[in-house]
Amino acid sequence: MRSENLPIPGRTEKADLHFHTTLSDGGATSAEAVEECVRNGVAFAVATEHDVVNREFPALATKAGIRTLEGVEVSARAPVGDGKVKHLHLTAYAHLFVPQIDPVLTETRIGRVTKMRLQCEDLARVGFDIDHARFLAHFENGGFDLANLTNFHLAEYLVSRPTTAKIAKSIAGVAVTKPHDFIGLFLKRESPFPVGVPKNFPEYEPEAVKIARIVVGGSHGVLSVAHPNFTFAKEGTEAFENGIAENLVETGINGIELNPHATPEWTETVLRVKKRFGLVLTFGSDCHFLKNKTGDGRHSAVGETHAYLTGEKIREKTARLLAALG
Ligand SMILES: [Zn+2]
Repeated sequence: MRSENLPIPGRTEKADLHFHTTLSDGGATSAEAVEECVRNGVAFAVATEHDVVNREFPALATKAGIRTLEGVEVSARAPVGDGKVKHLHLTAYAHLFVPQIDPVLTETRIGRVTKMRLQCEDLARVGFDIDHARFLAHFENGGFDLANLTNFHLAEYLVSRPTTAKIAKSIAGVAVTKPHDFIGLFLKRESPFPVGVPKNFPEYEPEAVKIARIVVGGSHGVLSVAHPNFTFAKEGTEAFENGIAENLVETGINGIELNPHATPEWTETVLRVKKRFGLVLTFGSDCHFLKNKTGDGRHSAVGETHAYLTGEKIREKTARLLAALG
């Protein structure tokens, strides 16, 4: 049976349109995620991996009687006004993505891995005990997708090396022992000692307008601003509502996400922006099926969505999402 023939969630059932499996940086396989959805009463579920379309989850979910779609969380960049460009995450949904989406996502993943290699080389050059191949091998065993390694993994790996504190001290005057301190000192463009920041590395994340053309135009899908409450925390609700949102909508984005951890202020802002621009409201737990992420204030268990989303609202919003898909 095709997923389209399955009913949309009823009054008491849950829906979750944003979570991650081992295909990106989550801790559960697609099959385990389906089991967890069944256990938690999630009747409509979409896996949204980072920069790769999960094509195993939809088949497994449908077999388990769960309504689903193809989904992906795209790393992109978008103009936000005043000539500024913001890197952000966009969750995308379609019955079936056009194949043009895959090479764009692959480019992002290759860009990320290449940048990580250069970072390793730069860090090794100043004396840190790191080698790209060894670094990747360290994480390969965990079944982790290597294109999802971040500065945090780099820092976590390095602070565990016995010589790191001494080398950090010789460069920065501080014997670093915590990953966050390592990132702050060495891995950010604005760091005081940016020794792990490759210079002039080209942009590899696609422009939002390009993704919108593929997802909304080509695939008749929905492209949603993921967790605006986190992405635009620094800019704030007012700047988001009076300027940023309009810029995003102009790129062709047609949805906005209500994250379960949105404050009352952000919740109202998201709902107002949704209404003003006629956007589709998407929602999800951003579950990673990892003990250290569930309940950390940013991620929830699968099926745990915003309190605003009562059974009736879930029914209404999922119906609206499906109606928006061509
Ligand atoms: Zn996510």
